[in-house]
Amino acid sequence: MLLSKPKIIRGGVRTESRKQSTAEAPLEPLRAGQRLYVSLAQHIGAPALPAVAPGQDVAKGQCIGTPEAGLSAAVHAPTSGRVVAIDRHPAPHPSGLTVPTVIIEPDGEERWAPQLPDPMTAPAGQLDPTAIATRVAEAGIVGMGGAAFPAAVKLGAGQPVATLILNGGECEPYLTCDDRLMRERAAGIIDGAQLMARALGAERTAIGVEDNKPEAIHALRRATDALGGPDVVPVPSLWPQGSEKHLIYTLTGREVPAGARAADIGVVVHNVGTAYAVHRAARHGRPLISRPITVGGGAVAEPTNFEVPLGLPLQALLEAAGGLREDPARVLAGGPMMGQVAPLEAGVAKGTNGVIALTAAEIREAEGRPCIRCGRCVDACPMGLMPFEIANRAAAGDVDGAAASGLMDCLTCGSCAYVCPSARPLVQLFHHARGQRAEQAAAKERSELQRRMAEQRAERQRREQERKKAAAAARRRQRAQQKAAGGDSESPAQEQPQNEEKETQT
Ligand code: SF4
Ligand code: SF4
Repeated sequence: MLLSKPKIIRGGVRTESRKQSTAEAPLEPLRAGQRLYVSLAQHIGAPALPAVAPGQDVAKGQCIGTPEAGLSAAVHAPTSGRVVAIDRHPAPHPSGLTVPTVIIEPDGEERWAPQLPDPMTAPAGQLDPTAIATRVAEAGIVGMGGAAFPAAVKLGAGQPVATLILNGGECEPYLTCDDRLMRERAAGIIDGAQLMARALGAERTAIGVEDNKPEAIHALRRATDALGGPDVVPVPSLWPQGSEKHLIYTLTGREVPAGARAADIGVVVHNVGTAYAVHRAARHGRPLISRPITVGGGAVAEPTNFEVPLGLPLQALLEAAGGLREDPARVLAGGPMMGQVAPLEAGVAKGTNGVIALTAAEIREAEGRPCIRCGRCVDACPMGLMPFEIANRAAAGDVDGAAASGLMDCLTCGSCAYVCPSARPLVQLFHHARGQRAEQAAAKERSELQRRMAEQRAERQRREQERKKAAAAARRRQRAQQKAAGGDSESPAQEQPQNEEKETQT
């Protein structure tokens, strides 16, 4: 059920938008002029398996990584050229670890692969739902709002879905690429929404767009009027309005219980960029090989929006935006609330929505002053948590205590850190505690595995002993019977039991 009037989320913060410098910059297509570093692990789940070898020529759109079983996504060549290596390379990923990467040297020809699938031309309502989900899987589409969850998995989750929601919130400061996409390619987004609704069997679809994007709302409404598409609902401009749980609450009034998924209450949320990628895959047979991205921040000479081939190094994006006017204090992949510090040699991934180079004046370094118990973080928390309490426990190394205080319910949205007058590094503490908890869980799993293996070994040895004892007893009985029958006591068969008796003692 969609509400006639959106609800206001609890907590949250009104951040400075800082979008002025790029909001009017159209999406400019960038070509793959230099080496592309296409990660095979740019989605949530198992990395794709390489489907090409070093030295091999590839065509644009050719599959270069096949999905692993389970949660995974296919990866395609963003341009034509030659695979020069398959190696580990830095990626725009919170772990900071290198990931398996296909490195492609473009040939400049932009030659498309001949075996791309045919466009699906029928109206969405006449297409086979499974065929749509299959096409989305083949195109390697993942959540483009940053989550990078394989989209086809959400489309074919097997649970009944009543409501599809498209997220056009884009409430992080600086980012405007979704805004531009909605303004420039509204018809494709609406078509993608209709295709996804058909795949899900959803009865209702709504697009939530922050009310500070009137042009995007206007463009989407014009497209929905033409295509008979879903409702376009302006939602309050409040961080983290675009989080899945909060957008659902705003549009439906329903809360996703702690530990549950949106699908458990019959709702699926996709980003508007994901909907556009679905449109391209279905209507043009194109896999996901490029994405819209904002290059911004005070250190960038000419902040703008690009449509970039995946794998283009972040450094190349900064150069294409006129370079840096001053040394950045921090370069983020993503926005300043949820983005991660990323190495400049990392290639753009499917979930990378921004490259933001911030000056020292634009960031507030954590000073680690003591908590003054003002409670502002509690007021700001959209999840109803007590961030200072979680942080205190995390800082003391009490990971279990932090978990008991709601660590795992935290969205790491950063609202609490944003309002903290003591500039406490709350989110860093949460990330650290989560990392420790993951390590503890992995160590527990390892020791549990070792315990099970030791038990299985002991059980195998016990059964072997029993088997040998039973065999020895049978032979003794046989000898006794032979003796009773007057058999030869010096036969070879009589010598063996001694050896076997010995074996049973080992
Ligand atoms: S906002 Fe900062 S200083 Fe205030 S209670 Fe929370 S952690 Fe403490
Ligand atoms: S505790 Fe987590 S969910 Fe709450 S405001 Fe802080 S980062 Fe956001």
